[in-house]
Order: sequence, then C-alpha cells, then structure tokens
Amino acid sequence: MNEPIYFTEEHRQFRDNLRRFFEQEVVPKAHAWEEAGMVPREVLRQLGGLGYLGIRYPEKYGGAELDTVYSAILAEELGRTTFGGFAVTVTVHTDMASPHLANFGSPEQLERWLPPINRGEKVCAVAVTEPDAGSDVASIRARALRERSGDGDHWVINGSKMFITNGVHADVYFVGAKTDPGAKGSRGISIFVVEKGTPGFRVGRALKKSGWLCSDTAELVFEDCRVPAAHLLGQENKGFYQIMRNFQNERMVIGAAAMGEAARAIELTVAYVRDRKAFGATLWDKQAIRQRLAMRAAQVEAGRALVYHAAWLDAQGKDCVKEVSMVKALCGELVNQVLYDCQQFHGGFGYIRESAIERMVRDARVEAIGGGATEVMLEEIAKRM
Ligand SMILES: Cc1cc2nc3c(=O)[nH]c(=O)nc-3n(C[C@H](O)[C@H](O)[C@H](O)COP(=O)(O)OP(=O)(O)OC[C@H]3O[C@@H](n4cnc5c(N)ncnc54)[C@H](O)[C@@H]3O)c2cc1C
Repeated sequence: MNEPIYFTEEHRQFRDNLRRFFEQEVVPKAHAWEEAGMVPREVLRQLGGLGYLGIRYPEKYGGAELDTVYSAILAEELGRTTFGGFAVTVTVHTDMASPHLANFGSPEQLERWLPPINRGEKVCAVAVTEPDAGSDVASIRARALRERSGDGDHWVINGSKMFITNGVHADVYFVGAKTDPGAKGSRGISIFVVEKGTPGFRVGRALKKSGWLCSDTAELVFEDCRVPAAHLLGQENKGFYQIMRNFQNERMVIGAAAMGEAARAIELTVAYVRDRKAFGATLWDKQAIRQRLAMRAAQVEAGRALVYHAAWLDAQGKDCVKEVSMVKALCGELVNQVLYDCQQFHGGFGYIRESAIERMVRDARVEAIGGGATEVMLEEIAKRM
C-alpha cells in the first residue's frame, strides 16, 4: 500500500510501533481470545500503558493530544491484525464510546473517568441501540426521569439496549435515554454515565454472533436504575446532537479498520495464490485471478485515500460529514467484496476455520451494518449533493 500523503515521520513511526506490537502481542494470541469470547483486560491495559488508548485526549487526563490521522492509523493497524473482534473492542473504547465523555464531559467527569479509560483500567461502551431502534436513533424508548428526594438528586433510567459492544465486560457505559418524550424525536434525548454495579443495571445476556467472536456483545437492562444527577453527560435533551457528532469519529475508524482488513486480506491471498498450483501452474498465473486482485488492490488504495483524506479534514477542523459518510458507505461495502474474492481464491481452505480469511469474511459483514448501515450513509451523502 502507498503511504498516505498526510503522513509525517511521526505518523510513520507511530504506525511501525503499533504494527510491531500487534504482530508480537496480538496476532499469535488472538485465536484463544476468539474461543474465550473476549479480549483479556491485560491487553487493554498494555495498550493504555503505551499511550494508544487516549490518542486525541488532553495530556492532563493521560492522553497524547495527537491528531485524527493517528486515530485512522490505529484503526487501520487494528484491521490489519485480521481479528475484527479485537479491532472493535479497542475502537469502541477509544473512538466510539470515550468520545462521549471527552467531547461533552464536565471537568469533574473528565477528571474522574478519562484517566482510567486512557490507561485501559476502565473499559467503556456506548449504549444507544435498542431492540426496536437502531438506524433510527431518534426513536429510542429508554426513559430517564429526574427524581429529587430526601437522598438527593437522581435520574432514574428504565429500558433496554441491544447489540452493545464491550457490553458484557465494560466498567463505564454511556447510555442514551429519552428525557423529554414529549419533544420531537431527536430533541428529547440525553446521555448518562452508568457504572457497572449500579443497582438496577444488569447485563441481560451475552449475544452470540457470526463474527467478531473475541468482542463481547450484550443486551443491557435498566430497571429503575438510579444514577446521580451529576452523571448527565453534556446538556439535557441535546444527546441526539452529541451522538451524531461522535458518529463522525466512529464511522471514520470503522472505514479505516475495514481498509486495513481488506489490504491484509489481499496480501494473504496474493501469497496463497502464488503458492497454490492448479492445472499445471500457480493460481497467480491465471490472468482472471491476478487481475481481479489487482482491481481490488486499486479499490482499496482508493478507499484508504478517502479514509485519510477525511481524517485529515477532521484534523484541520473542517466539516467532513459527507466525506465520512462516504468512507463508511464505500469501505463497509468494499471490505465485503474484497473478502468474498479472497475467500473464493482460497478455495476450500477459505471455508475452513483454520484460515484467517474464513474469519475475516465473517468479521467483515457487520461493517456494512453497524455504526450506520450503508443505506443510511448513502442518505447522508445524498442530502449533501
Ligand atoms: C456486532 C454489533 C455491534 C454493535 N455495537 C453497538 C454498540 O456498541 N452500541 C450501539 O449503540 N449499537 C451497536 N450496534 C448496533 C448497530 O449500530 C445497529 O445494528 C445499526 O445501526 C443498524 O440498526 P438495526 O440493527 O436496528 O437495523 P435497522 O435500523 O432495523 O435497519 C435494518 C436495515 O434496514 C436498512 N435501512 C435502515 N434504514 C434505512 C433507510 N433509511 N433507507 C434504506 N434502508 C435502510 C439497512 O440495510 C439496515 O441494515 C451493534 C450492532 C452489531 C451487529
């Protein structure tokens, strides 16, 4: 793959260090994590210790104050590990859940939760989706009611959340709930911090998935779950805006991880077909195969260029909703097309659990669904055309 033009020497070093770490500490071990259904917390603490979990956050809370391009590099390298479940465990923590706190937390909230999140000591999750509301965020039904009584000022949350990544093993959850059900859809939502162990909050069940096996995914239940008033994150009734803002980062990193996976899948497949013989020559000697892989490589270069362009725009503080939506739509679909071909060219082996490609096919599917399905992204682009 070409080096993005946005890379400085520091970006390059950052990428090389990350790649080395993942090759040594993740790739050889992650098969066991897939079996266990979770990423060991020690690995997240290691990543935190190396400064990879708080890339863009203020130094005073243990962050590194780097730019968005670094987040894209982290996600791309996570994707290159070939373990999508590992990638999403980390990116939900760094780029989908913790931005709720980092962007909208009060100084007291930042002081309390951001340093342990950056160190990987507290793992976080974001809980917006519900059994009856996914793409249509404004239609969530979880409810939070303000209660002022003898024992203080609280919010009481009721409802359930679905498909929540890190949901089984997280320590801190950023939860969306309706605080003004009378308000028009998007206007009455707020975000709350709910800690593991809060009475009235429980993991309903761990969900079994077709891919992302080492990522834990949960249904969450809130039954008269009382959190202190100080756990309201950002402004009351402005949660929809907060969610939409954080979606930008989420979608950019999903696209970056997808391009890391796709690029790595092509490399693995080129190596395989150069070695594998059929009809008296290697598979690489079949023009149909090498040309298809050449086209996929070209498409992934293009997708990657769009990812880094969107990350760069964001780093410059420029509006990039359209570009990020393009990243999510394009890369979420492309990774699936690439993996389909890579599995095809691996023949029967590509269907066997031992092959990385088999896992990568399963992991890729959800990238066109989660964090904004392709169709929803295309609407965002169309609105801006
Ligand atoms: C493994 C996994 C992890 C997840 N992690 C999290 C998490 O950590 N936190 C969280 O809050 N959520 C999470 N999600 C939820 C995810 O973001 C939603 O699944 C996604 O937004 C789609 O919502 P839905 O499943 O309700 O599908 P629906 O909204 O019911 O949509 C179903 C399908 O309909 C189509 N569609 C929807 N809207 C339109 C439209 N306007 N025009 C045309 N077609 C449309 C799309 O093809 C879409 O896939 C996760 C999901 C999965 C599967």
